[in-house]
Amino acid sequence: MHTWLCRHAVGEPVDYAARAVALGLKEIAFTDHSPMPKYFDYWRMLLEDLSTYVEKVRVAQKQFPNLVIRLAMEVDYLPGGEDWVRELAKMYPWDFFIGSVHYVSDTWAVDDPKELSKWKERDPYEVWEAYFDRLGMAAQSGLFEIIGHADLPKKFGIYPKRDCTAMFERFLDIAKKSGVALDINTAGLRKDCKEIYPSPAFMKLAAARQIPITFGSDSHDPIEVAMGFDKAVEMVRGLGYTHYCRFEQHRRLDTKIGD
Ligand SMILES: [Zn+2]
Ligand SMILES: [Zn+2]
Repeated sequence: MHTWLCRHAVGEPVDYAARAVALGLKEIAFTDHSPMPKYFDYWRMLLEDLSTYVEKVRVAQKQFPNLVIRLAMEVDYLPGGEDWVRELAKMYPWDFFIGSVHYVSDTWAVDDPKELSKWKERDPYEVWEAYFDRLGMAAQSGLFEIIGHADLPKKFGIYPKRDCTAMFERFLDIAKKSGVALDINTAGLRKDCKEIYPSPAFMKLAAARQIPITFGSDSHDPIEVAMGFDKAVEMVRGLGYTHYCRFEQHRRLDTKIGD
């Protein structure tokens, strides 16, 4: 879940926590967009706000002692940016990092509505391929416990005409080998694609490899907390998943779905 500190979400950590308690959740995690060393784009935390973020999460932890609140971040994977992620990792006692690819080049984030026109200049298959190449590198980097919204390029409903199964399998084989979990992310239900990230077809291939999963609402507003989780649970149960995982100080805790 995000907070207003990333400059495109609303709400304080305590607001999200209050909503989670009202819904009867036992555990939540803050995973706001990680800062870059210098100004990078308009939709992430600024480095000077990082300590405020951590303090605000700690305030929520104190205010809601019966709710487990993990301190984490959603960190952009950029080739060559690994040292910065290592630096961030050392700054605070994070529970985990979600590794996400938004950028398929130095300047284009495929999910940015302000850059939607760029899709018209590119073959969707090539964009998806560039994206999944980077996602494989993210999984392989060993920097992340979870890979975020694995089929994000579908956000605007723009799909390659060619079959992507081999592309997905290449990534999933790397994911399996590197031990990352996949984020079952319900934000997709609220976008043009109207589908959970990743798709059922993608998750069928993941289930065959027994790749662990986490549940995420990717909330950018307290009202979105746990939104679509019923559909997420239904989807993964249908694929044979009985467990999901949580992370505490980088340690994976496997938990029965429903517990
Ligand atoms: Zn965001
Ligand atoms: Zn993201």
